[in-house]
Amino acid sequence: MMPDASVASETSFDLVIVGAGPAGLSAALVAAEHGLKVVVVDEQHDVGGQIFRQPPATFTGLPSNSAFKHYPFGRTLLQQARQAVNITWLLGSTAWGVFRPEEGGSNQADVQHVQLAVSSAGGSCLLQGRALLIATGAYDLPVALPGWTLPGVMSAGGVQTLIKSQCVLPGQRFVLAGSHPLLLLVADLLVQAGAQVLEVAIARPRPGLMELLRSARAIPDHVSLLAHAAQALRNLRKHKIPLCFGSLVQRAQGQNGVQQVVLCDVNPAWQALPGTERVHQADTLVVGYGLLASTELARQAGCAVQWQPARGGWVVQHDDVMSTSAAGIWVAGEPAGVAGAEVAYLQGRLAALNIVATLGGAGANPRAVQTTRLALRKAQRFSDVVLRFFEPRLDALAQLACADPDTLVCRCEEVSVQTVQAFLQEHPHVTDINSVKLACRSGMGYCQGRYCQHTVAHLLAHTRGCTVEQAGIFTAQAPVKPVPVAALAQDFGAAVSTASATR
Ligand SMILES: Cc1cc2nc3c(=O)[nH]c(=O)nc-3n(C[C@H](O)[C@H](O)[C@H](O)COP(=O)(O)OP(=O)(O)OC[C@H]3O[C@@H](n4cnc5c(N)ncnc54)[C@H](O)[C@@H]3O)c2cc1C
Repeated sequence: MMPDASVASETSFDLVIVGAGPAGLSAALVAAEHGLKVVVVDEQHDVGGQIFRQPPATFTGLPSNSAFKHYPFGRTLLQQARQAVNITWLLGSTAWGVFRPEEGGSNQADVQHVQLAVSSAGGSCLLQGRALLIATGAYDLPVALPGWTLPGVMSAGGVQTLIKSQCVLPGQRFVLAGSHPLLLLVADLLVQAGAQVLEVAIARPRPGLMELLRSARAIPDHVSLLAHAAQALRNLRKHKIPLCFGSLVQRAQGQNGVQQVVLCDVNPAWQALPGTERVHQADTLVVGYGLLASTELARQAGCAVQWQPARGGWVVQHDDVMSTSAAGIWVAGEPAGVAGAEVAYLQGRLAALNIVATLGGAGANPRAVQTTRLALRKAQRFSDVVLRFFEPRLDALAQLACADPDTLVCRCEEVSVQTVQAFLQEHPHVTDINSVKLACRSGMGYCQGRYCQHTVAHLLAHTRGCTVEQAGIFTAQAPVKPVPVAALAQDFGAAVSTASATR
């Protein structure tokens, strides 16, 4: 087990990596193997990212994380990372801003390309890197629906995290609603943990034979992953858990927490079919309609993004070696498009091989690049099929909030649907999301828009008759994540005195 680093004793590196998931870890190992001086920063207290999350070492006798069975590279990756003596780990540490040395500064020869501000419990520091790799993963797609702020409404990833890392079952009577494969895995996990699952409501229609056959071409290389999903389905059937296709959550109801969950049948466009509402007496609603790419840090650093709804919304643009539009910055894993752990792992390798070549480390083997590219292509083919199969109807999800005008869109600043709609009506010239942010404060709070960006963009697009892409994305500002004021004072001061913010 690696100790949490508080403040880095050393701050100058060849490669600074944010994220210790499959993407960040594979990149760190490749870069260190080629002689680069590497530091990895992660908020978690252990390596592995979301998928290989572990309970604390003090929790003994637990079954091993099932992801290792289906992603066999995971175990080796974690073992190698734990044994790597030539990588500096800053765990339990949040990266909150990217800065650039001032052009034409006095000390040009020594100037490093990128500065990363990091805060941890023990203090804060400004890391210098000749290259930066952003491998910040993804987070659950927030769905604003009436009652979503009640205690007991949780995301699929959140429930999984509690069970996986803390062995905590966050309720007793569960309803699961979504369209992402993670929902099935979480339903299975809940049943195995002894929870009562009243229904798993999948919004898409039941797949037809033709659709299954069309998808089959991507299967041969990934039989084990499909077997995982099939086993989860078998287990649900064995426990007689109702699995309903064409079924969408409408709202959660209750006084001080969830007491009822309302679902209804929907057509293939996820529009409610009248007269089909049904109510479950449940204490927990688990929502799992997909993942959003975590791009705040990349956007704050000036990396261009593009709208790819099936791949996690706004994703970081990159070339075929994972280099972004911002000089000295690479991306790997989910911020480059949500595509699963295998793609993340391979993209990390590819990025590191290119970084090694760019920084002039011990020569990267061209065959390694070729082999990684080939494997990546196969993995991407599989993930494309899965993503198409489960693609969420983001427009329909965003409309759920409108059923009750008091539904909060922005939980941090307590901005309701009604407030945003009234503002749009009073200001017909407003067509971009940042104007809504400035006027209504949605997106200005603690989470920096991670919860409300998607809903506000759809409300704007719906009202103006434009696309979500045209509505745009909130500008990301440092600090991209909440940090103590002391860290801001210390690092921001240091960064501003030697550097200028990239944006
Ligand atoms: C909650 C959740 C649960 C998931 N469970 C599964 C599953 O069971 N099975 C499956 O196949 N897929 C699962 N996925 C998808 C899976 O996470 C990805 O396929 C895979 O882990 C992607 O690897 P990655 O390296 O891109 O990102 P991740 O594994 O997400 O790693 C990113 C890391 O970056 C860190 N980070 C992010 N921002 C910062 C910052 N500003 N400062 C410091 N650190 C930061 C995070 O703490 C995280 O450890 C899950 C996704 C989520 C969001």
